[in-house]
Amino acid sequence: MKILTLYKHAQHKLHRPPQLSRSFSTTKLFINGEFIESQAADHIEVRNPATQQVVTRVPKSTPQELDEAARSASLAFREWRRTSVLSRQRKMLDLQHAIRANMDQLASSIVNEQGKVFSDAKGDVMRGLQVVEDMANITHYMQGNKLEVSSDMDTYSVREPLGVVAGICPFNFPAMIPLWMFPVALATGNTCILKPSERDPGAAMLLAQLCNDVGIPPGVLNIVHGSHDTVNFLTSDSRIRAVSFVGGDKAGKYIYERATQHGKRCQANLGAKNHAIVLPDANKEHALNAISGAAFGAAGQRCMALSVAIFVGKAQDWVPELVTRAQQLRVDGGFEADADLGPMITPEALQRAKLLIQSASDEGARLLLDGRGVQVPKYPQGNFLGPTIIDQATSQMQCYQEEIFGPVLTCIHVDTLDQALDLINSNRYGNGASIFTRSGASARKFQSEVEAGQVGINVPIPVPLPMFSFTGNKASFLGDTNFYGRSGVNFYTQLKTVTSLWRKQDADDRQATVHMPT
Ligand code: NAD
Repeated sequence: MKILTLYKHAQHKLHRPPQLSRSFSTTKLFINGEFIESQAADHIEVRNPATQQVVTRVPKSTPQELDEAARSASLAFREWRRTSVLSRQRKMLDLQHAIRANMDQLASSIVNEQGKVFSDAKGDVMRGLQVVEDMANITHYMQGNKLEVSSDMDTYSVREPLGVVAGICPFNFPAMIPLWMFPVALATGNTCILKPSERDPGAAMLLAQLCNDVGIPPGVLNIVHGSHDTVNFLTSDSRIRAVSFVGGDKAGKYIYERATQHGKRCQANLGAKNHAIVLPDANKEHALNAISGAAFGAAGQRCMALSVAIFVGKAQDWVPELVTRAQQLRVDGGFEADADLGPMITPEALQRAKLLIQSASDEGARLLLDGRGVQVPKYPQGNFLGPTIIDQATSQMQCYQEEIFGPVLTCIHVDTLDQALDLINSNRYGNGASIFTRSGASARKFQSEVEAGQVGINVPIPVPLPMFSFTGNKASFLGDTNFYGRSGVNFYTQLKTVTSLWRKQDADDRQATVHMPT
């Protein structure tokens, strides 16, 4: 295991997490088990969001390279689908070990390219690792049903892989989201072409190296890069049977429509606006700490980040205390000790968030905490936005209507739980929603009436563990079969049902029957 060995060696000398070298090179393609320099004429620069230093240049894969990736994945599928489920299970066990052993290396890559703080970057890897661990259970997931119809007849179902599948990833979880996709695809017997985000492909490349190291055969996982043209290829090439997408609404709708028009299965997780209701009977300390962490952690760039807090009745008095907690969070470079949130991904994303904050103020909301002027002395060039709290917003305001995807919490005041539920249920998104309360009856009402796919009760970011599935709904999801867990296995497999008849030697078979067998 090359990375593992390198890292162990380095650990003796390092007193803090390893940072990648300042010199950069071009990100390679990973096709047929080899890391290949692309022949692309166009590249996309990846800059460290804290420093603006160029980390790498990502090629826009050429048509020939994309074709080669599909050819490699198609050829590899012939053998890979014939491997026993036990050997694929073994690969998942080996891969989870390799990821665990290289956790710091993966997290460092994330900090350098994506900007999140080191401990949170390890959480990014860990949540993906849990999916790999769950795929070590593939022998159970792949089981079908069997019915003995009569003494000489059986009907049974088997789950079969689809063939070549593709994954298209967003920037905000450079390890976790690739790990939602390819381990499930591979464990079920498919081969995969992955397109990491062009803004932070490093973690996916390290994962590809680990796949090589644990002996996943050439062509079973391939990585291509690029943006629009690469996506167009992955959603239309006839060798690709299914497309998994996670990202924003615009790309997601386009990809879902294009993939399905080309006859492919598609699952697409899109944008979000996640609400938390705070009832006056909640444990105040717990609720305010949880909301603060979930709104501002990862600089608000999580699809399950809490972006709206609805304070009900007397709980409205707690908003100033929330501001105090948010003020205590430290904004800094991701490798700095005690940093709570790092920079946003690009200067453009930062500028967009700033404009939305301004719009809130212009439309009459109160800006209780304005992170636009945050100073981060060691990283003057970084895309930093401090925690921002917009209070007394309404659902008509732009800051509420749009997904800001930054460390910005919009607070709304209502009188009753019913009003809070109406607000959430009127929102077009349905990724996650939480309630903070000590009342079992209120929690039960919320759970049953809220129109969101992932519900938290005194839990701010209710992302399901991998033995469940990621179940965003409404405008946060297109498709009908969710990511990872049982649903993920179903997405990447199709059922075959076999009916067999083994008659006795002396059975009376002299006459043909023409009616429908029953
Ligand atoms: P994005 O949509 O800009 O990019 C995602 C992928 O789509 C990238 O690989 C990119 O190359 C490709 N892409 C972008 N624009 C495209 C276009 N016009 N045509 C074809 N392909 C295109 O998303 P992002 O900014 O990287 O990620 C942030 C978004 O992802 C947020 O909206 C967030 O809510 C969402 N997200 C959702 C979930 C979820 O599970 N619901 C999880 C993570 C992120």
